[in-house]
Amino acid sequence: MADDDLAAAAATGLHILEGSIRRIKLSVASNEEILKAQPVDALGKPFPITQCSQLQDNPSLGLPLQVGSFESCGATQIDKCEGHFGFIELPAPIYHPSHVAELGKILNIICLCCLRLKKPNKGTGKERKFTSCSYCHDIPPLCVTQVKKSNGARSLELKAPLKEVVGDGFWSFLDQFGFHTRRTCHRRPLHPKEVQNVMRKISECYKQFGVACAHSTG
Ligand SMILES: [Zn+2]
Ligand SMILES: [Zn+2]
Repeated sequence: MADDDLAAAAATGLHILEGSIRRIKLSVASNEEILKAQPVDALGKPFPITQCSQLQDNPSLGLPLQVGSFESCGATQIDKCEGHFGFIELPAPIYHPSHVAELGKILNIICLCCLRLKKPNKGTGKERKFTSCSYCHDIPPLCVTQVKKSNGARSLELKAPLKEVVGDGFWSFLDQFGFHTRRTCHRRPLHPKEVQNVMRKISECYKQFGVACAHSTG
């Protein structure tokens, strides 16, 4: 508050409590928070966006329109509104473009067979990025890498070293996350839905046992 404001408040006998900010917590919005933040219709019901046509000239989303007021908060000027978020329900999960790199790093330190933490590889050169699990001796060292598609979309894939023989059932340890592949290729795409299942299983284990747990690999 400016000094003038304080003086004015004191003159009117208004007592203003002083405080200091001790902690600010920043985190990624949860699904529930995103749902709560979306604009609501006249009846107060949220309207999920299911078609791209709803995004165009939608007076409830984004920043205020050049003409007229903004439907979500009533602001008429751009600097009076912080913008409004919408919720788009996609038919299948996709990787968040701003989080996919971090997600890849997290997946790289987890064994995708038993979900325990892997030990970092002390080797050098190209082999260094391939890490193995000290519990799963049947699984060779693997690494998760980010793939950029020609349309700009980013995704993740699991790679095995080229010297490794990738035969039938090589990737079957991933079946526990809902997707089976018969590919006998050194690269295996990781579906966003599959990764969602991995993360869910990890959090279930931590909730249940307080530590990462071993899953049946058979
Ligand atoms: Zn607004
Ligand atoms: Zn393992």
